[in-house]
Amino acid sequence: MRRATWRPAELVHGSAETATARTLRFRVPGWPGHLAGQHVDVRLTAEDGYTAQRSYSVAGPADGDLIELTVETVPDGEVSPYLTEEMRVGDQVEIRGPVGGWFVWRPESRAPVLLVGGGSGIVPLMSMVRARRQAGSRVPFRLLYSLRDPDRRYYAEELRRPDPGLDVSYLYTRSVPEGLSRPARRIMLDDLAEGGWPASFEPDCFVCGPTGFVETAADLLLALGHAPERIRTERFGPTGG
Ligand SMILES: Cc1cc2nc3c(=O)[nH]c(=O)nc-3n(C[C@H](O)[C@H](O)[C@H](O)COP(=O)(O)OP(=O)(O)OC[C@H]3O[C@@H](n4cnc5c(N)ncnc54)[C@H](O)[C@@H]3O)c2cc1C
Repeated sequence: MRRATWRPAELVHGSAETATARTLRFRVPGWPGHLAGQHVDVRLTAEDGYTAQRSYSVAGPADGDLIELTVETVPDGEVSPYLTEEMRVGDQVEIRGPVGGWFVWRPESRAPVLLVGGGSGIVPLMSMVRARRQAGSRVPFRLLYSLRDPDRRYYAEELRRPDPGLDVSYLYTRSVPEGLSRPARRIMLDDLAEGGWPASFEPDCFVCGPTGFVETAADLLLALGHAPERIRTERFGPTGG
């Protein structure tokens, strides 16, 4: 397979998603388009020629040659603090992609969908939610979004807006807003049994987040009887090198 080429990418807009995450919109001339769930490689080059590259999921459908990423600051990280704190509109990086052909949702798909995201693992799942809306798809989606506390919510306002056929449940692990009965805890079997689809509906399940979260959630889905080939996972472990 031919490797995609590096393309110059200019930051045209940046906005705070939370206190520690930023959504960045890049203009990438010649962008070939991508599918919901795919990611890109981002390469930074220092003045002395030193380079560092990391993977980031695309957060939604492309708008011509514009693509959006959402990046969480990893304290002391080499690449993410540059993208979230230092990079200014007009600055350039290089982007290569799209990458990945398995962790993707296609608008022509008819199976119900279960999305299970932990932390910044929401990003490629949001891309699927947005692709569904853009395509006018009526396929029912359920999103289970595990995160520490309400201040960490990405895309909070957009996910509050009515989107027929999309159900969103938040699973807080550290602190819970008033009025919710589920205690703060990590994802458990009950969460997937109550907030997901029965295995007999044969949903396509997409699980994304830190490695431990993904492994736990995928094991729970298997325990609930979901077929292994219907469980697609993406681990946001360290990348680059
Ligand atoms: C397919 C894929 C898609 C990804 N998409 C996104 C995305 O949409 N948004 C996003 O914010 N990140 C995403 N990531 C993670 C991203 O690639 C980087 O790993 C992350 O931004 C940290 O890079 P860094 O250079 O800042 O930290 P590094 O300098 O690489 O690491 C600094 C320290 O943090 C640890 N560390 C590195 N990465 C992580 C991590 N993800 N979680 C916890 N600790 C870590 C390292 O082990 C090291 O100790 C994705 C990863 C993959 C594999």
